[in-house]
Amino acid sequence: MENIMKIFGENAFTESNLKKRVPKKVFEEFKKVQKGEIELTKENADLIATAIKDWATKRNATHFCHWFQPLTELTAEKHDSFIEPHGDKDFIYRFSGSNLIKGESDASSFPNGGLRSTFEARGYTVWDTNSPPFIKENELGATLYIPTSFISYNGEALDKKLPLLRSMDAVNKSATRLLNLLGYTEVKNVIPTLGVEQEYFLIKKEHFDKRIDIMFTGRTLFGGKTPKNQESSFHYYGKIKDKVLNFMANLDYELWKVGVSAKTRHNEVAPNQFEIASIFDVANLAADQNHIVMETLEKLALKHGFVALLHEKPFSYVNGSGKHNNWSLATDTGENLFDPKSPTFMVFLSAMVEAVDRYYPILRSMIASCSNDYRLGGHEAPPSIISVFLGSHLTDKFKDAKLSLVDDKIVYGSKDKKIKKNVTMININQDFDDRNRTSPFAFTGNKFEFRMPGSTSSPANTSMVINAIISTVLNEYSDKLESSKNIEKTINSIIKESNKKHSRIIFNGDGYSKLWHEEAEKRGLKNISNTYEALQFYLDKDIIKMFESNNVLNKVECHSRYKAFLNRYVDNRLTECNTLIYMIDKYILNFTYKYIPTILFEEEQNEIKTYSNYLLHYKKELAQLLQQINEIDFEEKARLLSKDSIILEAKIRKVIDYLESKIPAEYWTIPTYTELLFTL
Ligand code: ADP
Ligand code: MG
Repeated sequence: MENIMKIFGENAFTESNLKKRVPKKVFEEFKKVQKGEIELTKENADLIATAIKDWATKRNATHFCHWFQPLTELTAEKHDSFIEPHGDKDFIYRFSGSNLIKGESDASSFPNGGLRSTFEARGYTVWDTNSPPFIKENELGATLYIPTSFISYNGEALDKKLPLLRSMDAVNKSATRLLNLLGYTEVKNVIPTLGVEQEYFLIKKEHFDKRIDIMFTGRTLFGGKTPKNQESSFHYYGKIKDKVLNFMANLDYELWKVGVSAKTRHNEVAPNQFEIASIFDVANLAADQNHIVMETLEKLALKHGFVALLHEKPFSYVNGSGKHNNWSLATDTGENLFDPKSPTFMVFLSAMVEAVDRYYPILRSMIASCSNDYRLGGHEAPPSIISVFLGSHLTDKFKDAKLSLVDDKIVYGSKDKKIKKNVTMININQDFDDRNRTSPFAFTGNKFEFRMPGSTSSPANTSMVINAIISTVLNEYSDKLESSKNIEKTINSIIKESNKKHSRIIFNGDGYSKLWHEEAEKRGLKNISNTYEALQFYLDKDIIKMFESNNVLNKVECHSRYKAFLNRYVDNRLTECNTLIYMIDKYILNFTYKYIPTILFEEEQNEIKTYSNYLLHYKKELAQLLQQINEIDFEEKARLLSKDSIILEAKIRKVIDYLESKIPAEYWTIPTYTELLFTL
């Protein structure tokens, strides 16, 4: 085990690697660059690039690439080899500072929501100096990956990283400003921290090859209930099968090699569903690392004969996959601002609650996707109404919150409430509140856990929006404090007023219940049920104002994001509809027609015939709908695809699932849920 642990970070160009390879002065200047205090000089960039190249080529790297997070896909990359001609038939390995820092790519074909047209194709990828380059190995060598942001010629964000970096800057300034005003002048920097839990399914590769729906859409478009489901949660934390454990061990090993601190692994609730969580880190690094986790998951699964499904809802009737984003703020003096022991805990808690109450629709938009639509509100996933869970104890305290409140019960658990137990050996205090699995935005002891993001969502987007909304509120608090003579009195009245006004967003009960839906409506909290509705909030005046005031996104960028994400939604929905039609024609009807003549009993034969007629009929209706929307404007298309076609697809699914239950396995050659979920 010790040897395996030794490989940690071997394939990442970490700070200690740089320190060893460049003069002390260069290293120190680079640290200042990372903090945004100075710009990287050309000379230093060249020295660092040479150090990275020497390190990487020793590890068999032949290529480097600028790796970025475009608007509509998870990541993108373009490779260049280190080779440059040198003399007649000779070549050398070359990698300059400018190769490292800045790449130029004709990226006009990347969906950008109209920010750039083909004749203005210039786009730049710029190294995020806080995220270390790393190496990915392949059979014949290796590639150096440089984490970058993607920026247009005019400086607009074409990706998810740049707004995240801007939001980190915003929250750094706003939180430091407030702390300084409150008397904590030793604090110079505040960083957002992020810990990402990633859920996924594994299925056999041979099954995947036979499910065109999973191949094209990431999920099953049909499939009946299995005789056994997840009812008793038999899979959750269950014994991990050897084959799966081999895969997980391999995954941890590969992740550790590139410096990703994979920590927790276990079976999840649904059959064949699993989770991997890393140790939290600075938000931009944690976001990059989650992309590495997803890419490595997909790649390694194949080596083990599996396919990893990252889709939010690959199967009906069982849990979908989320990506819990654990978020907090840390000071450079080593304090977690959401630790109840922190002297300013109540101030930051109030600001977070207020921020969510005022801007929850944009939190909802940020995690909206075609795939997450199928998950929210389903089995054990949070509902699509956003609320904040504080737990009953903290909610009580919140009502008359004061700056000076440090509460033993919150910090150490309730001493007078012991956990009931049957053994006498252990004696543990009960936590001050139980967990609430249904809450979309839950306070979990010393951080917030945003549970709505789906398994394919980008943590860069998620933490960007949390940073941005809280910054706005923190700055407003500071504005008021700046003109105040009595800081303590003013902050106490600020939080008191804020808590009174915004505690409607706090809900500690069951987020699934019908009662909550009614109650939320009374409180004026919107139920934003699908991506089409959610994305509209990118165009909302107040939300744009909030982003602009923090310099996180400007109006043009908000509008372009709206278009790019809505276009992606339309594309995904159309692919789902077209795949369904394709599978009906190529497979389902074929199975049915083969089976019908073999049925001995006329009654049964007629029943199957009737169902196959339904199928033909609905399929035609769906095809007609697609034809009709072909010509219309993309917004209207998105609206129709979020409503009418969904109803039709549900009808089709019912018929197919019925046929699947009746037609013998020898005719039904597409793997069923029983095979997909219960064999590995
Ligand atoms: P659970 O399943 O109980 O929610 P996990 O251990 O699976 O907990 O995940 C918790 C995640 O929260 C981990 O990634 C952990 O590193 C992260 N985390 C812990 N403290 C913080 C913090 N201060 N800021 C951000 N993330 C944190
Ligand atoms: Mg969790």
